[in-house]
Amino acid sequence: MKVISKISEMQEISKEIHKKNISIGFVPTMGALHKGHISLIDIAKKHSRFVVVSIFVNPTQFGPKEDFNKYPRTLTKDLELLSEKKIDILFAPTDKEMYPKGYGTYIDVPDFSNKLCGKSRPTHFKGVCTIVAKLFNIVSPDIAVFGEKDAQQVVILKKMIKDLNFPTKIITGQIIREPNGLAMSSRNKYLTDKQKQNASIIYKTLRETANKINKGERNIPKLKKFIKDGILTKMTHSSPSENSLKIDYIEIINKNNLQQPKTLKGECLIAVAVWYGKTRLIDNITVNC
Ligand code: AMP
Repeated sequence: MKVISKISEMQEISKEIHKKNISIGFVPTMGALHKGHISLIDIAKKHSRFVVVSIFVNPTQFGPKEDFNKYPRTLTKDLELLSEKKIDILFAPTDKEMYPKGYGTYIDVPDFSNKLCGKSRPTHFKGVCTIVAKLFNIVSPDIAVFGEKDAQQVVILKKMIKDLNFPTKIITGQIIREPNGLAMSSRNKYLTDKQKQNASIIYKTLRETANKINKGERNIPKLKKFIKDGILTKMTHSSPSENSLKIDYIEIINKNNLQQPKTLKGECLIAVAVWYGKTRLIDNITVNC
């Protein structure tokens, strides 16, 4: 595995690889790697001969009061994991390399960016789209793999790719979970063991809700109330009082366009975001209605 931090060097290598007609698979990450990231690398390896992973904690996708400074950075451990996976290149640029002084171009997909996570993180997806577009121009991937954990991100990036004619295909990987059901996330490092146990109630509630839909329940407000009550009563009940709990959103929407349907039909996404103390947790489940 080669570690590269310079944009020009990465671009040069990608050009050479394409000249040899070898396909490039790409997995962008912010590091603090876990099994969720590794599963995406496995997918990239299945689809392409040359695999590039990036680690970059992207400042533009964090709001001014968010956790950019304390976001977990575990490069030594990440390097070990990645060399075991035998990827071809780790692209790990500095902030200055990606956003030099005077940087001023941003990409916005407003139709899908102002709902769900975008409501409480109004500039988040602009930062995500900007960095992914930059990384695509640097790595020139044939395919790029993203996790369904960030289902809204996938919809937004697919729209960006279509609208801006990027020649990259997006492939998605399912959510990888802890044995208790909690969706793996770099931010789970902020949680205590007890909190991780309590937080598993989020996925349990999503599964119970999916079961209700599968059994024929279609009343969206009733389903949303079931999720809210489930999370608030069960998580609060089993948590110490200092761990405040606040629902950011609960949505039951069309998975492909993020619209709230009049009646549930086709692929539906049940998505939630919950503030657990100072940690914001997101999770979702797909139900075929
Ligand atoms: P991040 O490092 O959190 O920016 O995530 C990098 C990529 O990993 C994104 O495409 C995420 O959706 C994906 N990802 C994060 N957590 C998981 C998970 N538990 N299972 C599968 N993919 C994940």
